[in-house]
Amino acid sequence: MNFVICHYSEIALKGGNRSFFERKLVENIKKSINSEFVLDIKKISGRILIVLNDGVIKSEIEESLKRVFGISNFLFCIKTKPTIEDISRELTLILEKEKFKTFRITAKRSEKNTPNTSQQINEQVGANIFNHFKDISVNLENPDINCFVEIVSGSAYISIKKIQGLNGLPVGTGGKVVLMLSGGIDSPVAGFMAMSRGLNVILVHFHTYPETSQNSIEKVKEISKILSKYQPRTKLYLVPFAKIQKQIFLSINPKLRVIFYRRLMFKIAQEIAKKEKALGIVTGESIGQVASQTLENINAIQNGIAMPIIRPLICYHKDDIIEKARQIKTFDISILPHDDCCSRFLPKHPEIRAKIEDVLAEEKKLNIDLMIKEALNEIEKPFSFI
Ligand code: ATP
Ligand code: MG
Repeated sequence: MNFVICHYSEIALKGGNRSFFERKLVENIKKSINSEFVLDIKKISGRILIVLNDGVIKSEIEESLKRVFGISNFLFCIKTKPTIEDISRELTLILEKEKFKTFRITAKRSEKNTPNTSQQINEQVGANIFNHFKDISVNLENPDINCFVEIVSGSAYISIKKIQGLNGLPVGTGGKVVLMLSGGIDSPVAGFMAMSRGLNVILVHFHTYPETSQNSIEKVKEISKILSKYQPRTKLYLVPFAKIQKQIFLSINPKLRVIFYRRLMFKIAQEIAKKEKALGIVTGESIGQVASQTLENINAIQNGIAMPIIRPLICYHKDDIIEKARQIKTFDISILPHDDCCSRFLPKHPEIRAKIEDVLAEEKKLNIDLMIKEALNEIEKPFSFI
């Protein structure tokens, strides 16, 4: 049998809520990994233990666990009795397959009533390994191989590789939000960051098909597929926006068009959020990045929205956003060309310091409630990505 021990850091700090966070993490791990390989998943003393069957494809499990928020790190382990002899013997078998000059033992106990302290395990197992292999030495600072020994629930779990996890909080522990997802670089990153804080993210994309081609929809579906790997189940709402855009084009001062496109998007996103029992709206806005994202314009756009608007990237530099987009693997799709529905019918000089009074006065020219109602009626059943 194979074992994986998952560690979590931040959720261990959550006091009375701890078991809620742990249950959610177990649930999310179950949903993320191929159940064919899994015999059991359970919580054991501040860790999560996954028992895998012999046919397991470890790389597949590794890829899945690397995408579960809440895991700080994880180790593929073998299990043995917690005696110095057993640990030394099993570790020797593992190390015989490896090439190394330096090593260290890093033992940890979850219970204090075991026969040996962590330090005794480090020293005595270390001495046995040192005596068994030729030409090796201990290096505590920067060893070729770090041998992890964890004594948990009466057993020893041994591994020579600790794999970094995503950290953060398990998705779903923070409730639901909707993400305004464009085909660009920023909004997928914003969604990823919202998930990292335990938020379950429902995706909403506004498109102008059939006035423009379908490529923004295809892009957004691809991006949604990638984002869906970081949370158990992902819904994508596609909202037809061409009619609204036309109404704005016909009635609104050209300088304020983008502001109005955005205001309508927010209002519709808010209605979808209410329907989904989501409590906030996430966007990829970043101060000063484009003309519509001055503080004045952000203010004019959000005016009238009653729920919290979460802007994870608000003070991020574009280079950092791009790096993050590369890490989560949305970048290559985001940079493909698409028809951005907001760059249609743009005046040469859009307003960059919109005043709320002007915007509200201008808005009287539109029947906003009807526009929202019609748009909501046109939305089809959301796509589901599992
Ligand atoms: P992105 O790279 O996310 O497209 P951007 O730098 O292009 O962002 P804007 O086009 O000003 O910035 O959009 C700001 C935010 O408004 C986006 O991050 C996104 O949250 C939202 N948004 C823009 N266009 C759409 C759309 N068609 N559908 C849904 N949300 C959108
Ligand atoms: Mg954009």
